[in-house]
Amino acid sequence: MANSTYTQQTSKPLHPNMKEPGPKLSRRVAVIGAGPAGLATMKELMEQGHEVFAFEASMGTGGVYRSHYGALRLTSSNLTTSFGSYSDGKEAQPVIWNRDEYLAYLDAYAKRFNLYENLRLGTFVTRVEPLPQTKSWRVHWRDSSNTDNVGFVEVDCVAICSGVHSEPKMPHFPGLETFDGRIQHSSTFLSEENLEGGTRPSDRPGRKRLRYRTLGGANRRRGGSFD
Ligand SMILES: Cc1cc2nc3c(=O)[nH]c(=O)nc-3n(C[C@H](O)[C@H](O)[C@H](O)COP(=O)(O)OP(=O)(O)OC[C@H]3O[C@@H](n4cnc5c(N)ncnc54)[C@H](O)[C@@H]3O)c2cc1C
Repeated sequence: MANSTYTQQTSKPLHPNMKEPGPKLSRRVAVIGAGPAGLATMKELMEQGHEVFAFEASMGTGGVYRSHYGALRLTSSNLTTSFGSYSDGKEAQPVIWNRDEYLAYLDAYAKRFNLYENLRLGTFVTRVEPLPQTKSWRVHWRDSSNTDNVGFVEVDCVAICSGVHSEPKMPHFPGLETFDGRIQHSSTFLSEENLEGGTRPSDRPGRKRLRYRTLGGANRRRGGSFD
């Protein structure tokens, strides 16, 4: 029964505006970034038979979740955050992952679809150069920890999955220059240790109370204090 339904659906004539699919093309594709978007892009491209060359500047997958906030807990549940093609098997009991749990999920996803085979970690893409004669691209990279180790690869297409959090933007407000407290961009406030020269507030003699104000973002707590 299921088979006949399937045959019936797939044998429908194409819409007049649709073309018959042509022969499948295999392309060489560079993917820049191995956050959630880069990993999903790699998986889809590899499944379609393309030759993928992926680059990630940091030493692991996970993007912003690897580099930010040790105590981070996602705002979305595993039901809405996980990929449709890969379950963590916990749909019956939705959870809000913490950072390590989400990183573990992404790592398992990358292993499940053999993404590490085509991924070069610790490699920063410095330039994407168009090659008009061959209608292709030369992707230049360098080793993140050894600037002498450089190279390039020529590809047909480039998928840019570098995220939106690479370069912090510090806004300027009138009066900032006369403020005598400390002004810190949220990208550098990754844990309590980042306050007051690397000591936890509770380790400070006298337990001086710090007052803080958060500007912008979707933070629910915009002000408060640390002991
Ligand atoms: C604190 C915080 C909490 C968040 N919580 C949630 C949440 O709960 N749910 C949700 O859906 N979204 C959340 N987000 C949004 C989050 O940014 C996106 O969901 C997700 O990270 C986007 O993935 P991405 O792959 O596009 O980018 P990113 O995660 O930013 O990954 C980009 C990757 O590209 C790499 N890269 C950049 N430039 C280069 C280069 N030149 N060469 C090589 N590699 C490069 C970076 O190292 C990075 O690994 C949160 C964001 C933040 C900052």
